[in-house]
Amino acid sequence: MNSNTTDRSKSLFERAQAVIPGGVSSPVRAFQAVGGEPPVIVKGSGSILTDANGKEYLDFVCSWGPLILGHSHPAVNQAITTQVALGTTFGAPCEGEVLLAEEIQKLTGVDSLRFVSSGTEATMSAIRLARGVTGRDKLVKFSGCYHGHADHLLVKAGSGLATFGEASSAGVPKAFTECTLVLPLDDERALEELFAKRGDEIAVVIIEPIPANNGLLLQRQSFLKRLREITRENGTLLIFDEVISGFRVGQGGARELYAIEPDLVTYGKIVGGGLPVGAFGGKREFMEQLAPLGPVYQAGTLSGNPLAMAAGLATLKALQDSDGWAYLEDLGQFLESKLGPLLAENDATLVRQGSLFWMSLQPGDAPRSAEGIEGVAADRYTHLFHSLLNEGVALAPSAYEVGFLSLAHTKGDIDRLVDALTRAFAEVPVA
Ligand SMILES: *Cc1c(COP(=O)(O)O)cnc(C)c1O
Repeated sequence: MNSNTTDRSKSLFERAQAVIPGGVSSPVRAFQAVGGEPPVIVKGSGSILTDANGKEYLDFVCSWGPLILGHSHPAVNQAITTQVALGTTFGAPCEGEVLLAEEIQKLTGVDSLRFVSSGTEATMSAIRLARGVTGRDKLVKFSGCYHGHADHLLVKAGSGLATFGEASSAGVPKAFTECTLVLPLDDERALEELFAKRGDEIAVVIIEPIPANNGLLLQRQSFLKRLREITRENGTLLIFDEVISGFRVGQGGARELYAIEPDLVTYGKIVGGGLPVGAFGGKREFMEQLAPLGPVYQAGTLSGNPLAMAAGLATLKALQDSDGWAYLEDLGQFLESKLGPLLAENDATLVRQGSLFWMSLQPGDAPRSAEGIEGVAADRYTHLFHSLLNEGVALAPSAYEVGFLSLAHTKGDIDRLVDALTRAFAEVPVA
């Protein structure tokens, strides 16, 4: 074996690269945006991750959102272990899916919903449903929003006329990209122009109401309201993709925060409590168009999986039992009070919504659209990221990914983050 036997993490990642493309099961984990090699993780507990060398990291990624309670929460572990003893999958209706669906309905007011195994499946299925309901093909998405990796969603704004999409991945058929129109966020004019021209062809608009996959691009409520109006006027369905914001920004998600009711909503991440789950739901009249009641096909061997349902239910209950959203808002305000001034001194801005945060590393107001993000941010971030990782503080390995707070984080953890960032900023010249 390797002569360097003490660096187990490095040697595991070398082996990973020999059998898994890039050594990872999802590309951002490979650290390409920031350089270097990712540590291979063997354990997570509370706010701490431990790598294969025993090095610990204060974790602000939280598995990209699901772990709102922190790693290995006792209530979630207990729920999973109890279910394991009863069986892990039945391929038949199970009690857990009834309980979790009822809990989601109680918290969000969504009429009816169906479980799938990932956020990608949730958005893909919701879009198919919207097309089935409207009998139209065209899909509108916003540049800077991510909705998983289904073919018709891997489309970015093309050059020239903003609305003509281009594939953002090889392997996406042209016919699919022609069905997807891309708009900029925060731009009523572009929205109105598109609907004036092609409103009667558009089946569905999908948006992250709190865009959190390309920085944190907080939208004006008036823009989201205009989007709701114009879709309604044109017989187009509106999907709020709440895979990140659902159960994160409060019990009713962005729908409640902005007091806007979409036709369909998608969930993922938190709703599975750290196991693979997604869900989509909405008004009963639409959801009843799904098989077996209606003509829109949708299915899944492991959908409504009892283990995952148990983890999701335990997570939502623990959040309520501990007054979790209030704690997270308090923690978020504390972060803002400490980190806001530090960033302001360094030509940067903190963007925060509840327990989601992002450092906009450019002068001036924080951007509200992908087009408003400047290239300089990525270089500045690389330095900060590595400086923190070295000290045992883990931020997401990309300037465009947000940070997550969990119930396992304390004000002491935030002080540690801000102290580490203070040192990191001191080492790097302002851009
Ligand atoms: C993560 C995410 C998805 C995709 O979910 P997966 O479980 O990774 O397939 C979809 N939409 C949003 C807003 C997300 O953040």
